Amino acid sequence: MTNDHWKLPPFAKQDMIFDAIPTDDRIWVPQAPNVWFRPLFLDTMGGAWFNLLRVKRSGVLSRHRHPGPVYGYVIKGHWHYLEHDFIAAPGKFLFEPPGETHTLVVDSDDEMITMFNVNGAMIYVDDAGKAIGYEDVFTKIEMCIAHYESVGLGKTFLEQYIR
Ligand code: FE
Repeated sequence: MTNDHWKLPPFAKQDMIFDAIPTDDRIWVPQAPNVWFRPLFLDTMGGAWFNLLRVKRSGVLSRHRHPGPVYGYVIKGHWHYLEHDFIAAPGKFLFEPPGETHTLVVDSDDEMITMFNVNGAMIYVDDAGKAIGYEDVFTKIEMCIAHYESVGLGKTFLEQYIR
């Protein structure tokens, strides 16, 4: 048995492992006042991303539609969707099916952190459900690059999270 049987085959992507909750606060990318996301995995081939969402204010965050599936895991804090009865609390896992439109409301000013895996895009909608904007893995990448350059982490810092 050779010692290289574990080596990655040609064209396989590099693995990753790191602290999900960063020690360097600059890694949190501002999304809105008191709202940040922390990229974990930006999947340009699958058109998907994993990130932590961090919120430090109560109230309505956004209303959006998901054309692809979303998987979530709540780490800290409590939140809910106006359209559903459940409360998302630490330790909860959730699946949001394609076609779902919902309005995220954070229940306290205490820090909320949830990991989301979003596939495809998020389509932001108004009260009538009309599309007013979107995010996909590429808009996320652009936001991260601009932020990391502005805080001195450099424009290649993000590359470790992209496959
Ligand atoms: Fe959502």
